[in-house]
Amino acid sequence: MVPYHDNHTTDKRPSTMAKMKGAITINTERCKGCSLCVAACPLNIIELADKMVNRRGYRYVEQVNQDACTGCTSCAIVCPDGCITVYRKKVES
Ligand code: SF4
Ligand code: SF4
Repeated sequence: MVPYHDNHTTDKRPSTMAKMKGAITINTERCKGCSLCVAACPLNIIELADKMVNRRGYRYVEQVNQDACTGCTSCAIVCPDGCITVYRKKVES
C-alpha cells in the first residue's frame, strides 16, 4: 500500500464510496501523548499505551484494533507532530 496521508504531503485524491481498508503507522518516539488522535478516531481504536513511555518520557499511543481501521485519516490530520502515516486500499466486495 502507498501512504495516503502523512502530514507532509497534500494528497487530493477524491474520496470513494467503495469499502476502504486502512492501516496506520505511528512514530512512537516522536509522539508526545497529547491524545488528539485518540479523540479524533471515529472508531476509538487508538489508545495511550499502558505504562509505556518513549525515550523522551512521553506515553505514546498505539492502535488497538488494526482490522477495524478504515483509513479515514482523521488521526493523522489532527496530530500536531506528524507522527501518523495512513495507508489505504480498496476492498473488493
Ligand atoms: S485512519 Fe481513521 S479509523 Fe484508522 S486509526 Fe486513524 S482515525 Fe481511526
Ligand atoms: S496526536 Fe500525535 S502526538 Fe498526539 S498522541 Fe496522537 S500520535 Fe501522539
